[in-house]
Amino acid sequence: MKVRVTDIQHFSLHDGPGIRTTVFLKGCSISCPWCANPECISSKIQGDFGYDISLEKLEDEILKDEPYYETGGGVTFSGGEPLLQIKNLESLLKSLKLKNINICFETSLFVKKDYLNIANFYADEFIVDIKLLNKENAKNILNGNIDQYLDNLNSLDLNKTTFRIPVTEYSLNDEDLILELIKKYVPKKIEIFKLHNLAKKKYEILNKEFYYKEVSDVNLINFRDKLNEFVRTEIIEI
Ligand code: SF4
Repeated sequence: MKVRVTDIQHFSLHDGPGIRTTVFLKGCSISCPWCANPECISSKIQGDFGYDISLEKLEDEILKDEPYYETGGGVTFSGGEPLLQIKNLESLLKSLKLKNINICFETSLFVKKDYLNIANFYADEFIVDIKLLNKENAKNILNGNIDQYLDNLNSLDLNKTTFRIPVTEYSLNDEDLILELIKKYVPKKIEIFKLHNLAKKKYEILNKEFYYKEVSDVNLINFRDKLNEFVRTEIIEI
């Protein structure tokens, strides 16, 4: 069995607890105009972006980092939307579980419930994005169905979940909706971050339009303080 990836990053420090191996799977169910990994959106191989790897080889890559996992780390499946390939990943997940390796999924939650149910079975951690919650914006800007996202939230183990919020003018406009959602679904922590333009070159290569508009530090800090009233919120740089 093979899966399609764009990169395997060793020694990752921002994709869950401890030192981790991050596997970037290719293919996403939505399309965020500010995506930092635009080469992961299409499931097709695009020039140098993307290759297929067998599960045996992927496991070897992951196990190279095993000594670092003593830091509380493990493997993070990111992307793209990692849950789109979860059925193909399942035998690897079983094997990692038997070796007691911590498994994290970074997901947008815009996926079929069946896929989330499989992930739930193996996950020690989830990083779940909150991008924007307005139904029309989710449809028009992300090409996503917010009802699917909200329904999937009900199936998440919040004790395993970190919410991650890219702070954009859209998320700031949805601030009240986001605060309401956090009140209802209190995660173990929240991470917020500002957009960066490090992916600009990749957008040029892919001939895609790039949305990049920085929010002010004052707005970022105000937002952090409001979220902090409900749960510990960190500003991160990724
Ligand atoms: S969900 Fe993540 S990988 Fe998919 S388009 Fe949005 S930012 Fe990119």
